[in-house]
Amino acid sequence: MAAWVVFLLCAASLSLALTQTFFQVPLQPEQMHRNDSDYHQFKWPIRKVAVIGAGVSGLIAYRELVDAGLEVRIFERDEVPGGVWHYSDETQGQPPIPNVDPQVADFVPSLPPPNAPLPHVVYHSDRDDKTGMTSAERWREHRAPHGVWASLTSNVPAPLMKFNRHDWPPGSPWNIPHLSLQRYLRSVYSFYGINANDRSPHISYNTRVELVEKRHDSFGNEHGWKLTVKKLERLGPSSCKETWWTEDFDAVVVATGTFNGPNIPNIPGLIEWHRRYPESILHSREYRRPEMFANHSVLIVGAGLLKE
Ligand SMILES: Cc1cc2nc3c(=O)[nH]c(=O)nc-3n(C[C@H](O)[C@H](O)[C@H](O)COP(=O)(O)OP(=O)(O)OC[C@H]3O[C@@H](n4cnc5c(N)ncnc54)[C@H](O)[C@@H]3O)c2cc1C
Repeated sequence: MAAWVVFLLCAASLSLALTQTFFQVPLQPEQMHRNDSDYHQFKWPIRKVAVIGAGVSGLIAYRELVDAGLEVRIFERDEVPGGVWHYSDETQGQPPIPNVDPQVADFVPSLPPPNAPLPHVVYHSDRDDKTGMTSAERWREHRAPHGVWASLTSNVPAPLMKFNRHDWPPGSPWNIPHLSLQRYLRSVYSFYGINANDRSPHISYNTRVELVEKRHDSFGNEHGWKLTVKKLERLGPSSCKETWWTEDFDAVVVATGTFNGPNIPNIPGLIEWHRRYPESILHSREYRRPEMFANHSVLIVGAGLLKE
């Protein structure tokens, strides 16, 4: 009988500079900041802010910063908002064994050639691509499908898992199916005019932030950040276009999520097992439906929430 070893999703991501959970719990007076010293003081005026990621955190950051009168621009590598909650049958593909450093497990940044004039544009056609990578593979690597499976429902009751001023319709179940969550999130993005079909200048979809660098003024003092971004546009089923450019900002919110880089612990013997039965080890990020395990015995490694 064939056997499977399934590794559960471990969080490993870039730091979340500013985030807020899905829950909208009002701060109690005793929890609120009272002194100026409780706040970070920026060394330069903050007017223009980049938000990296259009999931739940990116949306909250956008709303709060716009309400505070700032100019905000979001960069999202996927073609739609929602982050984790953008379900697709497509998966990223099995992560490497042995494990790679979680910091580089999500993607290796792709930069334009040094000193290339920007914007730098490269066209790819499957027919004559020398790297052997198809446009579909380029797109999958760029957007990086998330680790949500077909039958997933939320583990937080609907009345708590919502944005302020955006209630669930009466009669909604407490365990929300992931597709309903996806629709809910898209509706809130639409409410703020930054959904994919809004063509808003405040958000750039299909655009991955590849590099964040400090900027300096003419006296050499730190003065904000320069982002190098890459947009991937699909021109047809077998061709695509990559465009790199840079944009300057006074501040950056990193809202890239916490469930991006898979982690398969380097358990003794695992490499040898993988060499012998390469198809029998799966990371939970790749899991979509139980049918693939029918009539197989399965060993689940990891006892976090995702084992359910
Ligand atoms: C399987 C699973 C089940 C979960 N169930 C629940 C639940 O029931 N209840 C709950 O409250 N939470 C749940 N969570 C947690 C979930 O992660 C949060 O609810 C929330 O969706 C996280 O939002 P986020 O915006 O922080 O991150 P994400 O949703 O991960 O969004 C990050 C966004 O950043 C983008 N991004 C990343 N890097 C770049 C880059 N370099 N450039 C541009 N864009 C980038 C990504 O494409 C993504 O859209 C679950 C998570 C998983 C994986």
